[in-house]
Amino acid sequence: MFIAKNHSGELISLISKSSESINMLKKEGPFYCPACQEEVILKIGMKKLSHFAHKHSCPIKPEGESYTHLLGKLFLYQWLNKQGIDAILEQYLPSISQRPDVFVRLNDIPVAVEFQSSVIPLIDLEKRTNNYLQHGIMPLWIIHQRQITVKNQIIALSDFIGYFIQTFHSTQGYILTLDPERRLFFTYTNIIPISTNRAYTIQKQHRFANSFKDLIGNNIFPQYFYHPWIQSIESWLKNCIISPDARKNAFLQFLYVNRIHPLELPPEIGVPVPEMYYIKTPPLEWQAYLWVAFLWDKPVNSKFHLSSIRAYIYHKMKNYIVWRQLATLIGNENMRPFVHYLQFLTKTGHLKKEGDTFIVRKSGKLIDKPNICREPLRNDFFRRYKGVLIRSFLLTDE
Ligand SMILES: [Zn+2]
Repeated sequence: MFIAKNHSGELISLISKSSESINMLKKEGPFYCPACQEEVILKIGMKKLSHFAHKHSCPIKPEGESYTHLLGKLFLYQWLNKQGIDAILEQYLPSISQRPDVFVRLNDIPVAVEFQSSVIPLIDLEKRTNNYLQHGIMPLWIIHQRQITVKNQIIALSDFIGYFIQTFHSTQGYILTLDPERRLFFTYTNIIPISTNRAYTIQKQHRFANSFKDLIGNNIFPQYFYHPWIQSIESWLKNCIISPDARKNAFLQFLYVNRIHPLELPPEIGVPVPEMYYIKTPPLEWQAYLWVAFLWDKPVNSKFHLSSIRAYIYHKMKNYIVWRQLATLIGNENMRPFVHYLQFLTKTGHLKKEGDTFIVRKSGKLIDKPNICREPLRNDFFRRYKGVLIRSFLLTDE
């Protein structure tokens, strides 16, 4: 860290001090951590980043600080200040026992900016996040770019990476990363999952000069994802069937119990809808659960209420439908991807929506002779609903 207390309780900052004056400081020790009050050692150098280090780990931030973390923290502090935002480095907040890397106010909201350069247990992240949220402070998580793996526009979403999908200052989820060595930000927007661990995304690189607003704003839905996504989801299903774990797969068992062959599932199951990143269960899977329970062979004009969908998801299927743990997941936003899906089924003419009640207009039918009919049916379906599906990403607040 860059700030410590001296014996008389004065805060000593190493930021923008010359190496001579830092050398002078060395005689003025001992120094103490403003958060845990333990003695810290002044370390001069470390590739020109003088800093204070705990003798043992700090209970407030037990993961310690690497060179890259120090560099990232300093970079973020300077970057925010340069925009005219009053940023405070390592502000200790005694009421909640937290010391965010940088503390700022953005549009009157207190924001704790945290740079996470190493992988730490999710439970520790959750504790820190919940502590902030409960005290009206919005955490803004920025992770080190080296944690990200992207290949062919598909990002690997481990539980750790997925946790950092956030919606602060945006209507859609994004991941924000920093490479402090190269002084570059990266954003990952338009996150559209195919499975639990993989999602299409758009990676953008941003230089130091950009403001926070520039980083997050203006994300256009990438139309070119449409066909690759649809192919990927079909491959996902086919791989699921031939996987060595297929016998133990809860989804396949669910279909088996219902006497459905996976390839009989119609094309309206496994479609891209907004905000699917809230759900860890693969999209084709949760859409199938909903479809089987509420649409399959249901008589025309039968009705169901949104609350029965909620009960189905939260109670009956709670071992099947799993949510992703997210840094900024608040309240009942969980239902949103399901509602988007039901809205799509109204566009296909399967359902009609009246308030919070859905009326079946066209019951769901399995694909007859899937080995012959599945591909042409899917091709036709996705050609027909291309506009509808793409538009739904542009109007996420409808
Ligand atoms: Zn400490």
